[in-house]
Amino acid sequence: MNFTIQNVLIATNDDYATVDVQVIDGTIAAIAPDLDVIGTAVDGSNKLLLPGFVNAHTHSSEMWQRGIMSIFPLELWLAELYDFAPLDLEKVYLSALGTAVETLLSGGTSVVDHLVLTPGKELETIATAVRAYREVGIRAFIAPLIQDESLSAGIPSGETEQNHEPYFRSTTATLEIIEEAVKQFHRPEEGVSILVAPTGIQLCSDGLFKGCIELSDRYNLCRHSHLLETKAQEKLAQEKYGCTAVEHLQRIGYLGDRTSLAHCVWLNDHDITILAQTQCTVVHNPLSNLRLGSGIAPILKYIKSGVNVTFGCDGASSNDSQDLLEAIKMGSILHNITDSDYQNWITPKKAVEMASLGGAKGLNIADQIGSLTVGKQADLVMYDLTNLSLLPRTDPIGLLVLGRPTNVVHSAWINGKQIVSKNQINTINIDNLRQELFNRSQWETKRKSQTVAQIETHYRQVMDL
Ligand SMILES: [Zn+2]
Repeated sequence: MNFTIQNVLIATNDDYATVDVQVIDGTIAAIAPDLDVIGTAVDGSNKLLLPGFVNAHTHSSEMWQRGIMSIFPLELWLAELYDFAPLDLEKVYLSALGTAVETLLSGGTSVVDHLVLTPGKELETIATAVRAYREVGIRAFIAPLIQDESLSAGIPSGETEQNHEPYFRSTTATLEIIEEAVKQFHRPEEGVSILVAPTGIQLCSDGLFKGCIELSDRYNLCRHSHLLETKAQEKLAQEKYGCTAVEHLQRIGYLGDRTSLAHCVWLNDHDITILAQTQCTVVHNPLSNLRLGSGIAPILKYIKSGVNVTFGCDGASSNDSQDLLEAIKMGSILHNITDSDYQNWITPKKAVEMASLGGAKGLNIADQIGSLTVGKQADLVMYDLTNLSLLPRTDPIGLLVLGRPTNVVHSAWINGKQIVSKNQINTINIDNLRQELFNRSQWETKRKSQTVAQIETHYRQVMDL
């Protein structure tokens, strides 16, 4: 599986260079002009080579509800989402395939799937996603989404007395499922990792967080959670802990350099200092934050404070796609309106670094992937610069990040294995996937969520609407 990409454009510090790239046994062995061809020769002329991006936060099975979710804020949106879940395992499989493919065809080579588990079939759900990702060949970080409080507990009580039903599964049983998943499926060297992933402070007890910390330490697992996505969660943290969610998570020891936190919209300056000190990674999901009206995360403040930031698509019910290039574009230019000092704005090159090296840092593997560096694994994406959406010829990365690139991924390799060639996925049959997605769904327009009907009045009251 050795190959040499010839005459390909790569980014240098302040310009571009045309080079050859040798890959031996899945590792980048040399980057320089006019190298000897080792293994297969790959024509890189008029193409741009970048490290693969990380889709650092998504929920694959939400694909089945994209395009139909009501225009709601997160708390009501979640109630609607869960009224029309769970899914059978075949659907879990197909949406994991779909998520992997859309990620790959928009520049991603890794995906963090905060995977919603089918009740009673938790390990089977994880096994199904593992199977799908292994078949496609994407580098997969499966973060089984767990909680131990019922959905209504995620809404602040305000002045009112609220009774929440107990969650259907005990904290201990939930932690046992995760430990079993680690034993069965955590194989980082084969491209499949398990993360501990309590959904967030809004639906998790300290017991669950502490159990996850313990598993993370024992098995060397990364940690992943939602954090302060909405104003309601900020209020809830004050009700629950009498301090901010970040202060509380620091107190119980959840934060660290293996912890990535999705959204991070409602943090104050002190919280940001804590994230910087503890070396956490923020996963920015701009499209979801806009779709759900959650707010604009203070990304420029994070960057200024030295917090590592990367991008995610978030689940396809709140996006409603898995186009990583779209998330990177929106996640960059959105912040030009949050700071009048244009010297702080995110440039296209900075955005590419955040999406690749930033993603790798968040998964604690920046020494292995995330940049075109000799000795790192060959997770590479080659873009076709003759594609109509990247013409006429100007700055290649500027065109890729600021433009509206379509079908531009010519080739992609993961650990040196070629997964995409000539815009086509090599590993699975895309026509079959399309047919299955079509057959297992129907055109829908209207549906009614019963849970939303039950909680909407209280939600509006506590949120002063
Ligand atoms: Zn999410």
